[in-house]
Amino acid sequence: MERIDTDVVIVGAGAAGLTAATKLVAAGRSVVVLEARDRVGGRLWTDTIEGAMLEIGGQWVSPDQDALIETLDELGLETYSRYREGENVYIDKKGERRLFEGEIFPVPAKTEGEIVGLIEKLDELVAQIDPDEPWAHPKAKELDEISFAHWLETQTDDEEARLNIGMFIAGAMLTKPDHAFSALQALLMAASAGSFSNLVDADFILDKRVVGGLQQVPLGLAERLGERVRLGQAVRTIRWGTDVPGAGVVAVTDTLEVHAARVILAVPPILFSRISYDPPLPRRQHQLHQHLSMGFVIKVHAVYETPFWRDAGLSGTAFSPYELCHESYDNTNHDDPRGTLVGFVSDEEADGVFTLSTEERKARILESLSHYYGEQALTPVVYYESDWGSEEWTRGAYAASFDMGGLARYGADLRTPVGPIHFACSDMAGKGYQHVDGAIRMGRLVAAKILEGR
Ligand SMILES: Cc1cc2nc3c(=O)[nH]c(=O)nc-3n(C[C@H](O)[C@H](O)[C@H](O)COP(=O)(O)OP(=O)(O)OC[C@H]3O[C@@H](n4cnc5c(N)ncnc54)[C@H](O)[C@@H]3O)c2cc1C
Repeated sequence: MERIDTDVVIVGAGAAGLTAATKLVAAGRSVVVLEARDRVGGRLWTDTIEGAMLEIGGQWVSPDQDALIETLDELGLETYSRYREGENVYIDKKGERRLFEGEIFPVPAKTEGEIVGLIEKLDELVAQIDPDEPWAHPKAKELDEISFAHWLETQTDDEEARLNIGMFIAGAMLTKPDHAFSALQALLMAASAGSFSNLVDADFILDKRVVGGLQQVPLGLAERLGERVRLGQAVRTIRWGTDVPGAGVVAVTDTLEVHAARVILAVPPILFSRISYDPPLPRRQHQLHQHLSMGFVIKVHAVYETPFWRDAGLSGTAFSPYELCHESYDNTNHDDPRGTLVGFVSDEEADGVFTLSTEERKARILESLSHYYGEQALTPVVYYESDWGSEEWTRGAYAASFDMGGLARYGADLRTPVGPIHFACSDMAGKGYQHVDGAIRMGRLVAAKILEGR
């Protein structure tokens, strides 16, 4: 067993862990980053599949994500805008395809009024929520005891309005059905992006991409850290407490023992329990980590010889709460003559299609895309499904959220260190929650706390 001594050992080479490492090294501390996979980036992963460059994990950057934008600038990475010229598509309950511009879907006037009213109401509530401490809202407990679906029912009896508003948080963000998370959790999701209106606005939330893919952020950070990053090193055990000299920690992998003053767990909180702790974590952590679970979404990539939908005057942006792919976009790469569509199949719909054979699933998903874009969508030259549910070191997508009542009950302790053990991950961010921006913020925060000796 190789032994390394360092100031801080970091578990996980995603955006959070690598940011923390970068900040600590800049302040003169020694670090070792242990990564289970044979690559860095975690949920950021750009790969070439059958000749097509695909962003298998996170990819979009929105204008409010200043921590991510600063990091892109530091690494000299360029961005480009998502294609958005032309009309968007909405499919209604009867399966009728309607074209529209702007943010509000082409629904009957009464439903439109209800949607606008719900957006205003949610914006008002979200403005009262501090994303860094949603549990501090005077009605936090009350809002955490009611599911988002139920809360919507208390606001309007218009089902199409509820389905559309529900979709922005449920299928599109937390990737859980809207009966499975609370109104408070929904408000946190919106507050983390500045407002509910920002979430509804695809041109805001899905504004830009990085030339060459967003995985270049962790790749660039890791390159600067050099040999401090060790791949293929799954941390199995963390020893801490009085038995460890200097009350520090020892992080143990199959071949390494890293002795340090502090450890940062920069992994999704649902994976904390994959590691054994000696002595065990305190009761509060044992309990609270059980109340978090990953959402689940399939990100579908379909590449065509040309972006044919543009010739038909379509932007590529398409939504429907009644479709298997509830949202889909033009995802053509920078300077690529081919056209790429990206669609999303979320939560229970994703469960459903995974009971089918690979071919049947592909046929169902492409059929859904063809409802938006026409028959040409049925025959891509490259087709790929990002299935993060099968990834041992992630186990879902996009990120983790609390079960009903969990946010008000446990949220305040999620980022609280336990002795020398610190936590950092996008899944525990306030601003930038569930996004790369949040991962970077959490990496910065934990590094700052360690440097301050907290
Ligand atoms: C399909 C998909 C689409 C997304 N789209 C966007 C988007 O467009 N924009 C956006 O901003 N965000 C998006 N996200 C979310 C974003 O990718 C994540 O929030 C962010 O990358 C998480 O970074 P992290 O460092 O907190 O965690 P992770 O990236 O999960 O990194 C954790 C790392 O820890 C490692 N690890 C786990 N356990 C151990 C162990 N025991 N020992 C050693 N290593 C371990 C893992 O292998 C991993 O590398 C998307 C995510 C997915 C999956």
